[in-house]
Amino acid sequence: MYDYLIVGAGLFGAVFAHEASQKGKRCLVIDKRSHTGGNLHCDEVEGIVVHRYGAHIFHTNDRDIWEYMNRFADFNRYTNAPIANYKGELFNLPFNMNTFYKLWGVTTPEAARRVIEEQRASAGVKEPRNLEEQAISLVGTDVYEKLIKGYTEKQWGRPCAELPAFIIKRLPVRFTFDNSYFSDRYQGIPIGGYNRIIDKMLEKCDVRLGADYFDDETGYREAAAKVVYTGMIDAYYKYRFGRLEYRSLLFETELLSGPNFQGNAVVNYTSADVPYTRIIEHKHFEFADRDKTVITREYPKTFAPGDEPYYPVNDAKNAALYEKYRELAAGEKDVIFGGRLGTYRYLDMWQVAAEALRCAN
Ligand code: FAD
Ligand code: UDP
Repeated sequence: MYDYLIVGAGLFGAVFAHEASQKGKRCLVIDKRSHTGGNLHCDEVEGIVVHRYGAHIFHTNDRDIWEYMNRFADFNRYTNAPIANYKGELFNLPFNMNTFYKLWGVTTPEAARRVIEEQRASAGVKEPRNLEEQAISLVGTDVYEKLIKGYTEKQWGRPCAELPAFIIKRLPVRFTFDNSYFSDRYQGIPIGGYNRIIDKMLEKCDVRLGADYFDDETGYREAAAKVVYTGMIDAYYKYRFGRLEYRSLLFETELLSGPNFQGNAVVNYTSADVPYTRIIEHKHFEFADRDKTVITREYPKTFAPGDEPYYPVNDAKNAALYEKYRELAAGEKDVIFGGRLGTYRYLDMWQVAAEALRCAN
């Protein structure tokens, strides 16, 4: 009946389904949630687009991907420039000359580099082996203590010395006065939110919501020749080698009567004593002029069965376990594993779209 059953109506599933249906393939897309879009899904509250699963800023250096996404929506000029709040003091992110000036009063790149070099030398870090050493090596102990340690340990639920260095390398360190969080050439937010993109992508497919693949695996398998699976790979194999670790989140969203709560879309709370990692004020993503505002506090959470698995924990132990599942997956003839959960990787949207296009081609 169908050429493809696509498990998961997130970005990976939607791009794949779009490409396959453009080539004349019949696709059934299912999702256990009550909406499409996966973590890109947006709600509308009092005329404000609300990112239900946390801030989603599209950014890429890949011109083809940027042009591809722009076929489905127009993007605005939003540039992410978060503020860090450490015990009531505000700093610019990512780490740049504005941050260093605020911390140390240094006014030149050379002076900032000197402070960092002194701090790195007194911490004795040579070859960074974990996130803590990597952070100190990049920006010194002051930035690490005020802007990284508390945030990271809340986010990942473990000491920075036990986390892989690559996580902190996601953030740029600049010796210029440039507050743009991403260095990519293209970035923005789709005008009207991400739902428009996903709706367009899924236009020619059959979509079933509130449908969990594992509730009727046999039935779904019989409905299609091939499966594209974007859920948790360990769940697909019934956890036969053990459970992969994930981090989850709780989002607490509030409608407030004032027009402007924090003056910026994203404010990170970097000290350990504040239980949330960031507050998002959604209207600033779209430069909305309203007399009300919607904010979301993001609380990191240990993943327990039944929670949403937002982040893979890509440490050595989980990497070794994932490798066993990946070997099984590589042997499947009729199943493609894709996306953040299907390939257990900390992927941004542009990478997910690029991989789905590559798979479909
Ligand atoms: P998902 O969006 O997770 O979609 C998978 C879908 O599969 C889900 O809808 C799920 O319900 C469904 N599913 C799972 N199991 C089953 C099952 N058994 N049966 C049926 N359905 C199932 N990226 C950026 O580029 N920029 C950002 O600013 C950014 N911010 C982020 C902020 C947060 C808090 C998070 C968590 C991620 C962020 N990302 C960002 C990453 C981005 O969300 C992902 O790259 C992207 O959503 C991954 O798409 P996906 O299709 O792989 O996964
Ligand atoms: N990070 C930090 N302080 C901040 C923001 C980020 O220490 O104010 C660290 C933290 O370890 C986080 C990583 O940098 O997990 C990557 O941040 P990013 O904003 O890319 O995380 P995401 O948006 O994917 O949650």
